[in-house]
Amino acid sequence: MARKSAVTPALAPSGDASLAMLAGVGPAVAAKLAARGLSSLQDLWLHLPLRYEDRTRLTTIAQLQPGMAAQVEGRVSAVERGFRGRPMLKVAIEDDSYGTLLLRFFHFRAQQVAQFAVGARVRCYGTAKPGQLGLEIVHPSYRVLGSHEDDELGDRLDPVYPAVEGVGPATMRRFIGLALDRLPDEAALELLPPDWLSGLGLPSLRAALLTVHRPPPDADLAALAAGRHPAQRRLAIEELLAHHLSLRRQRMALQAHHAPSLRGQGALVERLRESLPFRLTGAQQRVYEQIRKDLAKAHPMLRLVQGDVGSGKTVVAAMAAMLAVERGKQVALAAPTELLAEQHLNNLRGWLDPLGVRTAWLAGKVTGKARAKVLAEVASGEAQVVVGTHALMQDSVVFKDLALAIVDEQHRFGVHQRLALRDKGADGRSVPHQLVMTATPIPRTLAMSEYADLDVSAIDELPPGRTPVQTVALNNDRRPDLIQRIAVACAEGQQVYWVCTLIEESEELDATPAQATFESLQALLPGVRVGLVHGRLKASEKLATMVAFKAGEIDLLVATTVIEVGVDVPNASLMIIENAERLGLAQLHQLRGRVGRGSAVSRCVLLYQAPLSNMARARLETMRQTNDGFLIAEKDLELRGPGELLGTRQTGLAAFRMADLARDADLLPGVHALAERLLAEAPAVADTVVRRWIGSAVRYAAA
Ligand code: ADP
Ligand code: MG
Repeated sequence: MARKSAVTPALAPSGDASLAMLAGVGPAVAAKLAARGLSSLQDLWLHLPLRYEDRTRLTTIAQLQPGMAAQVEGRVSAVERGFRGRPMLKVAIEDDSYGTLLLRFFHFRAQQVAQFAVGARVRCYGTAKPGQLGLEIVHPSYRVLGSHEDDELGDRLDPVYPAVEGVGPATMRRFIGLALDRLPDEAALELLPPDWLSGLGLPSLRAALLTVHRPPPDADLAALAAGRHPAQRRLAIEELLAHHLSLRRQRMALQAHHAPSLRGQGALVERLRESLPFRLTGAQQRVYEQIRKDLAKAHPMLRLVQGDVGSGKTVVAAMAAMLAVERGKQVALAAPTELLAEQHLNNLRGWLDPLGVRTAWLAGKVTGKARAKVLAEVASGEAQVVVGTHALMQDSVVFKDLALAIVDEQHRFGVHQRLALRDKGADGRSVPHQLVMTATPIPRTLAMSEYADLDVSAIDELPPGRTPVQTVALNNDRRPDLIQRIAVACAEGQQVYWVCTLIEESEELDATPAQATFESLQALLPGVRVGLVHGRLKASEKLATMVAFKAGEIDLLVATTVIEVGVDVPNASLMIIENAERLGLAQLHQLRGRVGRGSAVSRCVLLYQAPLSNMARARLETMRQTNDGFLIAEKDLELRGPGELLGTRQTGLAAFRMADLARDADLLPGVHALAERLLAEAPAVADTVVRRWIGSAVRYAAA
């Protein structure tokens, strides 16, 4: 942005123009488009194809392969109209390759049936799949060819757009075409510095939009299909830039608030540190220092601490809490499950009671008089550190002076819950500091782009003396051998977790699979003390079982994934994960992190039910190969894509139209540098980029 003239100050006016100007867009259609977030010409320009259909050539029926999308032409050889439970129309077509293809329709009109006379020439497009009598296509798009003038092949790829309810695909294509006809010239449309773009060998926005919407016949089809065409990269860059800028802007908005400065002697922290039975790792010290500096400022901290399971995040959080307590302020610590919250409570009480710091406990199960008492202590400020679950976020919980809100395993909470907790300390003049912790490592590239509104610290070192867990995958057929191995291990004094996987999250409350496994293991392993924890037990029962396990009074603990986060029993050295093929990498890694906490060599057995899908096989293979949470997270990103990794719905992350964080990761450093440049030299342009791509869509309510 060296020369101001290189930057277009604002959008060309036509980009904001309403869609009512397009032929065929009346109020009813406009409302349907608006419901999908399409209300201006520019919105249509950026309504990008999901994929392309290639109707530029014909595939013979003999060349068709299952799973292949293709255009085929043939003559109708047979028509059958049936009704088996529901209406069905089957049309067989044949071509000169001597192949027969079945077209199958479940919804059709009488007029359509009439079109398919035997001998009629039909051209259709769809994805072939194996049927009872060879390949078939269900609901192909098709055309019955009449005279010869309409049988020319297309000369370009047909874009397929994301569906808009109430507006058919052909109509959508027409509207987009009309909108594209009104694209302003290059200079009026461009927001990115042309020198920067040409340096990367990328086209202008205008050229890029025309290419992706109307790929020319000579376009590199393979690149387009893979999303790696320069035109697509050009769009991805601007979209990534818009998202990054939007997060940066939210962060600046947060920074404009005031927060209590927690600058102090740090005497309490020192006493805590001295009382610990271990020395902090270098990483723990470094991250604590970062937090201490943040908290000293009069602006709210918003810091994400990521650290692999067992890296020791809790003690770092406790030290941060002591900085607030020393200044006479309150701290809230929220965890997503009661079991985890209770474990935090026990850890904190062990550390803080000797220092005379008062902790309080608030979970859903704390009711009646006990609850009233806790609420009163929180309101009076008597409770200095308040630990709990979602219950902490309810309206009835009022703090006297909350200065630091800590959220553990934040991806299990929604953004709104985090904000609800934060708002408990917001009094119009200041907002509390926020510390969020996660054991789901976030790949660096993702952290940089998706958490641009957070500062990110990594505890990237495990306490000394931990030995890597050895992992094997085992077919469920081998269960009897495995059970014999468990008998031997328990006889040698080892402790074992047996984790039962629930098929769906909603089954969390359904204890039957775990109960059944518990009973069968008890029967098969006489002489082994078997325990059971699952989500249906009372918190006190769960805790009692965990305490017994920790004390070595239980040898084999059957558990549902309630033990996924945070549970700490160093003597447990063997873990069996049943139906491991159902779990995602992050969850497998979290579970496995429950073993390998002591000095004994630990093992993890991933028991799977064959046959494995390719994805499941890749996950189990990754688990066998590495214990490194960051590597696993990278792999997870590759396998699943970022939306799922971060729990799109929960975090409120917007879906991208073009960009793909895994595929386009190499663009991010350049995008971040460009964001810097725009913010410094042309903030108005930065705003326009955000408005163009994100518009008024709500992302984080406000960090
Ligand atoms: P996570 O990061 O998974 O939440 P925790 O905070 O639960 O990990 O810590 C795991 C275990 O390691 C706990 O028993 C904790 O007391 C212990 N621990 C934490 N820091 C250290 C350290 N520096 N050296 C030895 N043990 C530590
Ligand atoms: Mg933890």
